[in-house]
Amino acid sequence: MSSNALILPPAMLGMLGGGQLGRFFVIAAHEMGYRVTVLDPDKNSPAGKIADVHLCADYADQAALEKMAQTCAAVTTEFENVPASTMEYLAQATVVRPAAQSVAIAQHRVLEKNFIRDAGLPVAPFVVVNQVSDIPADDDAIYPAILKVARFGYDGKGQARVKSQAEAVAAFASFKQEVCVLEKMLSLDYEVSVVLARDAEGKIAPFPTAENQHLNGILDVSIVPARGSEIIKSRAQQLAIKLAEKLDYVGVLGVEFFVCDGELLVNEMAPRPHNSGHYTIDACITNQFEQQVRVLAGLPLGDARLHSQAVMVNILGDVWKDGEPEWDQLFARTALKLHLYGKHEPRPGRKMGHFTVVTDKAETALSQAMTARAVLG
Ligand code: ADP
Ligand code: MG
Repeated sequence: MSSNALILPPAMLGMLGGGQLGRFFVIAAHEMGYRVTVLDPDKNSPAGKIADVHLCADYADQAALEKMAQTCAAVTTEFENVPASTMEYLAQATVVRPAAQSVAIAQHRVLEKNFIRDAGLPVAPFVVVNQVSDIPADDDAIYPAILKVARFGYDGKGQARVKSQAEAVAAFASFKQEVCVLEKMLSLDYEVSVVLARDAEGKIAPFPTAENQHLNGILDVSIVPARGSEIIKSRAQQLAIKLAEKLDYVGVLGVEFFVCDGELLVNEMAPRPHNSGHYTIDACITNQFEQQVRVLAGLPLGDARLHSQAVMVNILGDVWKDGEPEWDQLFARTALKLHLYGKHEPRPGRKMGHFTVVTDKAETALSQAMTARAVLG
């Protein structure tokens, strides 16, 4: 259903997925006076635990979807792997943002890469691998490369670095010959991302460009404002806006970029708030989750400007190796905002929380954040 009707508190909003992104959405919606129903099969899901209603069921569960369709004035998602059929079913009965079509593109690397390239945006050289015979012979134009599964990859999972055709063939077999993208391994100057919100009338509010550092394929640190050239930063915003417009996107969109030889290439997009936009919670007038509520409810977009310099650091399960970390050491730092997601099992590589150092001096934010991180070990 498409509707531009204003949805006002205390209406019920629906969230597909109960991870930390969903949890921050619930927090933002609650602050604004809305109620939230979360659908997630995990009874301990971070968002489900604080939602007004937690539908603890599969994403294709007919009864749960019917309940959501009947009780929610509008529904959004916090992850890209929601079945398209779920989004389409809900869209027959209620407002769904972003559209099923946008999510379908973002959840499949082949559709995503083709869409981005066909929209006239720059991407890294890639080859679609449907079958072994699609894997190109040794050639400097593509190798060394990264083989990435087209579906369900995240945080560097479902990726293999390969130096040759033989290695690519072996990696493809290890991925059970699922459809993949073979992408040239680039020497990156650095990485940036832009999170933006686009409303149903096409108005767009981009957040400032973040500079991102990854460790083992997982986002580690975001620095805002990014330290690169102003040209790169504003061009990244322009490219993200162009992508949102080409998709006729309605919602919050995260776009990741590589900076390579001084040029921007689009890496991938997420049809939802993005980890690299967590700094907006503490450093922007409106954060990415309030923006997600606003778009969903048909409210005007909030002011996305930065009011402070920020450095965000992810906290992974790895730091629990000797038990619960010494949180008092982080709380002692008054310019540091700690966010823990309430997950029970601190597995290595699992995103358990993050903190953001908020300051008016860009030069000291990073060193303060690194000192704080050292405490976690
Ligand atoms: P995910 O869905 O896991 O985030 P990405 O494609 O964004 O997958 O890859 C994760 C990280 O791996 C990137 O942010 C980047 O640091 C590195 N990476 C991915 N593709 C390339 C590439 N073609 N060249 C160099 N580094 C890459
Ligand atoms: Mg990524």
